Amino acid sequence: MTYDCLIVGAGPAGLSAALHLAWHNRKVLVLDRRSGPLFYTLSKLENVPGMPGQRGVEIMKNLRAQAEAMGAEVKKASIVKASGELGKFMLESATGETFSGTTLLLATGVARFHPTVDGDYTQCLAYAGKCNLFYCPDCEAPETDGKDTLVIATGSSAGAIGTIKHLANHATRLTLLMTSDAPFKEHHKNYLEENKIELIYGEIAAFEGKKGCLDAVLLKEGQRLEHEAYFVSSPKIPRSDLAAQLGISVRESGHAEPKSQRGDTDIPGVWIAGDLRPMTQQVAVAMGTGNIAAVHIDQFLLGH
Ligand SMILES: Cc1cc2nc3c(=O)[nH]c(=O)nc-3n(C[C@H](O)[C@H](O)[C@H](O)COP(=O)(O)OP(=O)(O)OC[C@H]3O[C@@H](n4cnc5c(N)ncnc54)[C@H](O)[C@@H]3O)c2cc1C
Repeated sequence: MTYDCLIVGAGPAGLSAALHLAWHNRKVLVLDRRSGPLFYTLSKLENVPGMPGQRGVEIMKNLRAQAEAMGAEVKKASIVKASGELGKFMLESATGETFSGTTLLLATGVARFHPTVDGDYTQCLAYAGKCNLFYCPDCEAPETDGKDTLVIATGSSAGAIGTIKHLANHATRLTLLMTSDAPFKEHHKNYLEENKIELIYGEIAAFEGKKGCLDAVLLKEGQRLEHEAYFVSSPKIPRSDLAAQLGISVRESGHAEPKSQRGDTDIPGVWIAGDLRPMTQQVAVAMGTGNIAAVHIDQFLLGH
């Protein structure tokens, strides 16, 4: 069977697109390996219009149910290969299943780097997105309002300063923990000094907390960093491997390049949406870019 549209990624972008396409009687299949951030986000999201205080997992459940009720198919699969051209795109899963579609939408999101303990990131997952360990300045900076906050930087010093600047408008006190020895530019150091932000270099020995809430970060050097809120500053690596396989231009940042605001690309019949596009990471933005891509895929199919 050839689908009108194959979508890789069942995050807010992919599912919003699936809803629109299924509503317009398109045969649409969404393939996902369930590694998106909202699958594990138990804390309430306060900035998604029309959904005050919903948890990430609830948003995912509702979006999926709405798309499926409209007729979209959603299937668990990790896609490792994308090939073909307009009218006959082919996706292959890690287990060797193949799927064919007239058009393709890639909504594969970004990968984030959690703080690690001896290279192991899984210890952090007990707290990530669950209570007071945050990741996304554009979405979650206000969560630090009035709180003594530790920024845990797993990437560059410039990235850490960017996160600090976001939080400076909210947190009462900021401390920066650099988990690597990334050097600081002079003006960034001056910024920290001028704003009385303590800079600590250290390796994490353990996370201490209960029921998803982090109480303290213990350093190998012996320090115990106890704060009210914790914010990870990490590089975000767009999952653009499938886009690259299809020949879509990929920016130095790793984001796939759209040809226009509609999310179409320089490969006819392939669209991109959500965090994979070079724009801020937010649920509402992901939904909007998924929706606009779907509107144009449907219009494209009308004339095809
Ligand atoms: C901890 C945390 C908290 C956040 N809180 C907020 C918030 O409060 N408000 C807000 O607006 N935003 C928040 N965000 C950001 C928001 O979650 C993202 O902007 C949004 O999920 C992006 O949607 P997306 O559909 O583009 O990608 P994603 O949600 O990342 O979904 C992409 C999907 O593609 C799948 N995928 C990728 N590659 C493949 C492949 N090869 N094969 C199969 N499947 C694949 C993944 O499994 C994933 O499920 C938060 C993010 C994090 C990490």
